[in-house]
This record gives sequence, structure tokens and C-alpha cells, in this order.
Amino acid sequence: MADTIALITDLILERPTCLPCIATRAGTSEIRVETLLGHVAPVVRVVREFGRRCRACGRSGIVVSVIRVDGDLGSWVQTVVA
Ligand SMILES: [Zn+2]
Repeated sequence: MADTIALITDLILERPTCLPCIATRAGTSEIRVETLLGHVAPVVRVVREFGRRCRACGRSGIVVSVIRVDGDLGSWVQTVVA
């Protein structure tokens, strides 16, 4: 699970991306992406925007990105999820 969280946060770090693209790239389901985003919410800011273009597929819709608050996310993921 830690690997998937790291992959997703890396994927959408300051890069608004739609849920289907995130799920496809992470090799998981959209529901699972939502769950994992819930896990990182305390550490990074999860930003949802409506009507913006996805950086991956270019379609306009709901996109999600994360903004690093501070600290090293990688080591946080290891400590919290391990
Ligand atoms: Zn997309």
C-alpha cells in the first residue's frame, strides 16, 4: 500500500490529474485512489478542482492534485503505512 500511495502522490504532486488517469497509472481502482488520498490528507494538501484540464489526458473535469505541506513525504509514508 505504501508503494501505491507514493506512486499516486508522486503522480499528482502539483499536477492536476483526473481520477480515471490516476487509477490507470497506479494500476488500481478509482475508489481505491480515493481511499489512499484519504490516508495522505493529513500530510499533504489534497486539492480538488472542477472544470480544469487533466494534465494526463487533457479532458476537462474534476482533477485532483496534492501539494506538499512540508517534510519528506517518502519517509512519512514509510513510517505511517509500514
Ligand atoms: Zn485524465
